[in-house]
Amino acid sequence: MIEFKHVFKSYGRGPNILADINFHIQPGEFVFISGPSGAGKSTLLRLIGGLETPTRGAVHVKGNRIDQLPARAQPYIRRNIGLILQDVHLLNDRRAIQNVMLPLEVLGVEYKIAAKRARAAMEKVGLAGKEDQYPIEMSGGEQQRLAIARAIVNKPAIVIADEPTANLDAVSAKRIMDVFKDFNRVGVTTLIASHDRALMAHYARRTLLIEPDRFSDLIGTPL
Ligand code: ADP
Ligand code: ADP
Repeated sequence: MIEFKHVFKSYGRGPNILADINFHIQPGEFVFISGPSGAGKSTLLRLIGGLETPTRGAVHVKGNRIDQLPARAQPYIRRNIGLILQDVHLLNDRRAIQNVMLPLEVLGVEYKIAAKRARAAMEKVGLAGKEDQYPIEMSGGEQQRLAIARAIVNKPAIVIADEPTANLDAVSAKRIMDVFKDFNRVGVTTLIASHDRALMAHYARRTLLIEPDRFSDLIGTPL
């Protein structure tokens, strides 16, 4: 589903952030990306999402070399990967449901169908009844779930979330993780960057640990 082959990544003339990274994630896996701040977790996720290209090496996603897809293939990536980045980028002048409908609008889906699918996506993340609120009227946890609804409204095969529980209390964090677990249960390949040890101890099956001089592919959670 996702494969890195000898991937190196540096920014400009800077040092290698990632050096000779190799791993293979099978369909339906639930994987944490962990490591200290600045180690390269976001960089790794952005490489999978096609938002960055590797300096060297190959990034395969669903059988395609994502690093070699031309710019016009970006919509293809969007359809297959639900990205939840650290800055959730909700539009505050649009109601919650309109935010969720955005990716469908971009794809030219008819309004009525888009609204129906957006409502279903909001229900899946526990936001039924909040369709007409504006994002600023929602709590941090609700905003995060709204961003998740927007990312999954296309039913992507892969969901990638960068620190989705940062700044949330334990109860909201657990709710977010349960949302991801629900998607994973129906076969969605799920990658989550986090350095929340308590959360990983509870949820991690496999962890890719990025440290300044080391990359480890672990079963379970790092100690
Ligand atoms: P993490 O998500 O683990 O905190 P990042 O992938 O965000 O780490 O960043 C890894 C390193 O790469 C950091 O030193 C960061 O400053 C640097 N970096 C990230 N993005 C860029 C960029 N666009 N240009 C230059 N340096 C960057
Ligand atoms: P913008 O740069 O103005 O956010 P984009 O065309 O990049 O516009 O994205 C359109 C909408 O789709 C935005 O709301 C964006 O957050 C959302 N979006 C972009 N990429 C993805 C993705 N891979 N998965 C889910 N939603 C996405």
